[in-house]
Amino acid sequence: MGSCIFCQIASGAIATPLVYEDADIVAFRDIQPQAPVHLLVVPRRHIASLNEPGDEALLGRLLQAARLAAAAAGLRQYRVVVNTGAEAGQSVLHLHLHVLGGRAMAWPPG
Ligand code: 5GP
Ligand code: ZN
Repeated sequence: MGSCIFCQIASGAIATPLVYEDADIVAFRDIQPQAPVHLLVVPRRHIASLNEPGDEALLGRLLQAARLAAAAAGLRQYRVVVNTGAEAGQSVLHLHLHVLGGRAMAWPPG
């Protein structure tokens, strides 16, 4: 997916400091943070959203990576969000987990 911004970040075509990386996953800071710490955890492989059927093991590793990325950023308490579909707020059509922390969170979310 040549035009996908997260594919370009994951491949290094767009240089972005990584908070966490492994063979399948990268994590980096959101360009428009909604909390003092706001990370995005992204599979290197292009997957459009959580609605794509496929690799269950990768989904587990994404959650594991969210925990490791949160720890690397100094968070022990945080929220993980996966916006799925435009109505839910998904604007980038490459699966990603938001990791938000560093402030008290309200519930329900907007
Ligand atoms: P979504 O709205 O799809 O759940 O989340 C996409 C997120 O990606 C947004 O929070 C947005 O600020 C972030 N984002 C979009 N483009 C870039 C970019 O080029 N670099 C970084 N670091 N974050 C981006
Ligand atoms: Zn992509």
